Amino acid sequence: SETNLWEQVDLYIEEKLIPADPVMDKILAANRLADLPPIDVTPSQGKLLRIYVQMIGAARVLEIGTLGGYSAVWMAGALRQGGKLVTLEADPRHAETARANFALAGLEDSIELRVGYALEQLEQLAKEGIEPFDLIFIDADKPNNPGYLQWALRFSHPGTVIIGDNVVRGGEIIDPHSTDPRVAGVRTFFDLLAGMPNISATAIQTVGSKGYDGFAIGIVTG
Ligand code: SAM
Repeated sequence: SETNLWEQVDLYIEEKLIPADPVMDKILAANRLADLPPIDVTPSQGKLLRIYVQMIGAARVLEIGTLGGYSAVWMAGALRQGGKLVTLEADPRHAETARANFALAGLEDSIELRVGYALEQLEQLAKEGIEPFDLIFIDADKPNNPGYLQWALRFSHPGTVIIGDNVVRGGEIIDPHSTDPRVAGVRTFFDLLAGMPNISATAIQTVGSKGYDGFAIGIVTG
């Protein structure tokens, strides 16, 4: 089947370009052992996030939606010296697993995990006068994507890169009558992006071991 082919090609890419890393393998194993949903980014997507961090020389990264910390570890491993990744997670069980994974990866000092509903955490960060971020990865509950995008813009500076995951959803994204609140959330996210004069954005459709989906990427221009 097509899906099977996408999966095999993902494996081929991983074998060629993503050297086996016992720490990354242990993190995924820990997530499955803790019974976290298998919705971590794929290895090739994780590496893409890392490459983005390297491309822009990011020192400050914000992630909304930690799960077991797999994508956070991919990104934090490439932060500039002294850099920091702040990641937000609502589920205490996910957070506990992530915390152990950050220790396993030796990244406790560069990752700050905050537990609670992301919209509340974001408001709290604003109250604390948090410095802007260089890259923001939105990967939590999709119905709240519009709110996350607005906060992301608020925590940006010219040049900040904002990435949203799962924005194609098997193609359902083009269905204005979809009753899936995640589709509605992502459609509003697109509408907001379209109306933001200071973000230049696009979206890329993807296939792979996690099916047919895509990510949006934008850069804050002013
Ligand atoms: N970025 C992770 C990775 O690739 O390893 C995957 C994140 S997973 C797709 C989404 C996460 O967002 C879940 O762990 C879920 O518990 C969390 N989440 C859902 N709703 C949330 C909310 N309102 N606030 C914070 N986290 C939330």
